[in-house]
Amino acid sequence: MARLLDGKALAARLRATLAARVAALPFEPGLVVVRVGEDPASGVYVRNKDRAAREAGFASRTLHLPEATTEAELLATIASLNADDRVDGILVQLPLPAHVNTQAAIAAVDPVKDVDGFHPLNAGRLASGLPGLVPCTPRGVMHLLAESGARLRGARALVLGRSQIVGRPMAQLLLGADCTVTVAHSRTDDLGAECRRADILVAAVGRAEMVKGGWIKPGAVVVDVGINRRADGTLCGDVAFGEAGHAAAITPVPGGVGPMTIACLLENTLDAAIARRMAA
Ligand code: NDP
Repeated sequence: MARLLDGKALAARLRATLAARVAALPFEPGLVVVRVGEDPASGVYVRNKDRAAREAGFASRTLHLPEATTEAELLATIASLNADDRVDGILVQLPLPAHVNTQAAIAAVDPVKDVDGFHPLNAGRLASGLPGLVPCTPRGVMHLLAESGARLRGARALVLGRSQIVGRPMAQLLLGADCTVTVAHSRTDDLGAECRRADILVAAVGRAEMVKGGWIKPGAVVVDVGINRRADGTLCGDVAFGEAGHAAAITPVPGGVGPMTIACLLENTLDAAIARRMAA
């Protein structure tokens, strides 16, 4: 039976460690989440982030702007947060309404406050192997892999998905940990064959239970980033969890990567707060 990588418990431990570090600071690190419009899933995510941040002692607030907010108005809001010394981290919740250019909003955030790690400068630093703010979900996956005890150096890692948010930065982090990395996507010829070679398999596709048991190498460590809703309303990942008993370890959905993403947002905010004050 595969070992369960309990992201909920690991995230609780990480949040407790961060809370202790925050309590020892002479200031409260400030996080602002900017939400535009009424995307229902975003509402849940933003509330969860805000609650976790407050519980850990961060000065957290959410700016909820109306759906009709123009791109210029959003960019002006971000500019004022960039200039606000009390704000250490800025997160623009995605997706944005269609009339707003997402890349423009991402690029407007001051890279030193970019706690989502999506700014091209931080993406470039990661790709160059330089320190910087790293996207929260891949950072959380690295914590889970450390917890699994898996040997990363020299291991074959397969990242399924190549998005700016998960797949690409995930591949860079695994490369930085000396894995031999393959990135697969919707144009990959034989996904099953690529997966079967992987000692470390990170699935970030958004297709319910697409990774079948027969695609998983015996003894592999499987991290399932996907969050999908079945027809009956229940959640599942990108991996057929019930067929993965021969893996060494696997994350559940829910309760795997999701809680780690939020904990790593707090970790990034604390990193950003300390780095900004050290630079001042
Ligand atoms: P995107 O839709 O941006 O990217 C999906 C990737 O999967 C793309 O690279 C795409 O390939 C690839 N893909 C899609 N369909 C297939 C297929 N049939 N075969 C092979 N590859 C395929 O999604 P995200 O990266 O933003 O998110 C992925 C999943 O992770 C989603 O379920 C999302 O909800 C979840 N997620 C979970 C988080 C968490 O905290 N747990 C955080 C962020 C995301 P191509 O590039 O060729 O189109």
